[in-house]
Amino acid sequence: MPRGIYKRTKAPWNKGLPKEQQPWYEKHHSEETKRKMRLARLGKKHSKETKLKMSLTSKTLKTTFKKGNQYGKLNKGRKVSKETRLKMSKAHSREKCYNWKGGITSYTQKLRNSNRWKTWRKRVFKRDNFTCKNCKERGQYIEAHHIVPVKECIQLDNIDLIFDVDNGLSMCYDCHKVKHFGRH
Ligand SMILES: [Zn+2]
Ligand SMILES: [Zn+2]
Repeated sequence: MPRGIYKRTKAPWNKGLPKEQQPWYEKHHSEETKRKMRLARLGKKHSKETKLKMSLTSKTLKTTFKKGNQYGKLNKGRKVSKETRLKMSKAHSREKCYNWKGGITSYTQKLRNSNRWKTWRKRVFKRDNFTCKNCKERGQYIEAHHIVPVKECIQLDNIDLIFDVDNGLSMCYDCHKVKHFGRH
């Protein structure tokens, strides 16, 4: 490389030029460009729930894989046959004390009756301003929906996720019903 080419002289060529003639002037984005960029970003945004679910699930799956648990992988496909599920729950009952007596349903029931659950619900409702996140109606009877279902949290061995406010959504009775059982 020839010497001197990139060497800064003591007085740059543009020194003393008016501001508008400085090479970097107007290089930053104009307000219009900034607005367009913001809009473009917004368009690509996933819905809040999808994003939450994605981040929550990947968080959970990561920890699950670290522990070498297989069920995270199985749950990902979601289409687990009844037989596989049975096998899974049987395998679970060997290692998990909550399955020794009463099975997963009564365990979930116990969780639902716990103070921790009640506190979680209250916090979810409060964060959502007691408004259904689906139809935006306020003043309806609302319930707290789990984005990552309770059963899945248990299978992933992540009880904390059940009580994670970020894993909750306030929903009115009707929207919640539709969410779980589809229309009618
Ligand atoms: Zn609703
Ligand atoms: Zn729900």
